[in-house]
Amino acid sequence: MERLTGTSATGGVLERYRDRLPVTDDTPMLSLGEGGTPLVSSRRLIERIGCKDLYFKLEMCNPTSSFKDRGMVLAVAKAAEANAQAVLCASTGNTSASAAAYAAHSGLDAFVLVPHGRIAGGKLAQAVAHGARVLAVRGNFDDALAIARRVSEKHPVFSLVNSVNPHRIEGQKTAAFEIVDDLGEAPDLLFIPVGNAGNITAYWRGFVEYYQAERASRKPRLIGWQAAGAAPIVRGEPVDDPQTVATAIRIGNPASWESAVAARDESGGEINAVTDDEILDAYHLLAEEEGIFCEPASAACVAGLLKYAARPEALEGPESLRDQTIVCVITGHGLKDPETALATETEATEVDADLAAVESAMGLS
Ligand SMILES: *Cc1c(COP(=O)(O)O)cnc(C)c1O
Repeated sequence: MERLTGTSATGGVLERYRDRLPVTDDTPMLSLGEGGTPLVSSRRLIERIGCKDLYFKLEMCNPTSSFKDRGMVLAVAKAAEANAQAVLCASTGNTSASAAAYAAHSGLDAFVLVPHGRIAGGKLAQAVAHGARVLAVRGNFDDALAIARRVSEKHPVFSLVNSVNPHRIEGQKTAAFEIVDDLGEAPDLLFIPVGNAGNITAYWRGFVEYYQAERASRKPRLIGWQAAGAAPIVRGEPVDDPQTVATAIRIGNPASWESAVAARDESGGEINAVTDDEILDAYHLLAEEEGIFCEPASAACVAGLLKYAARPEALEGPESLRDQTIVCVITGHGLKDPETALATETEATEVDADLAAVESAMGLS
């Protein structure tokens, strides 16, 4: 029998896409089982949208419950390969949860800089549970990232694992590969939330690479969505004090701004904004009509799709949504942000521990 190596039996993205990633013989083949996430068919929302096919790429099914794991596994493996002592990141939450988990997995220390008081409870719990040193910076995400960049420049034994680290984008492009592998072709449209803009950059790279390798005969149009109170790319200038319920995309000056604009333009796509009300409506619809409980940032792209579907002129040219195969990227899990769910759902009804009381509360008497 083969000796267990400590890597996941399912391989993970380093194993599965080794020949398309900067993996060498010296790269530790880390895996917590990231990637291979489900592409789920819409059963109910599709009726409101009126498109040919609608799928949700459930990136919330990654080991730390967001897509960040795809790039983090590679960034941490490369940090270990380069003999870094520790990984360091600024984070609105999910990057720190993922960095903390993969650092623990590989035996590196993790330091995370989060904006003070602005990180969802579940994400903070993850970073703390994995033993990361959490520093709550009195400032916003953009301030924290600027400091993290300077720390790693001054102290190179701290490997910066934000998406300015090129290995993050490389790892994240594997999600586009999986969509094509599952569908046998690229979709027509990809709807995706945009925060620091690394993910839209990564998807575009993945779709272009697969197209060039003739794994797909076309490339999708990328339709990105920012929150109205944090929409620098839509407005064309940085936002000083970004505000939105969708904390994962509460970013005023995206690190991958230029490459996101390039992805938009080269794909013939768009980057638009949705309000917090639209985001929360989509968040509830997904949970109540599809059984998908995502975090608010993820719902931004579905909010965008609903808005798009309501606009007859949404698609230029002869096509209409009716002919389109659409994928929405569901980036993170709703359990990460229980505060938002509990602040807006109706509360539980208290009843006595008694059959008649329960029946009456259920409307059965
Ligand atoms: C990081 C994140 C985003 C935004 O991705 P970018 O690469 O920063 O644009 C969206 N949703 C969730 C849940 C995230 O964790």
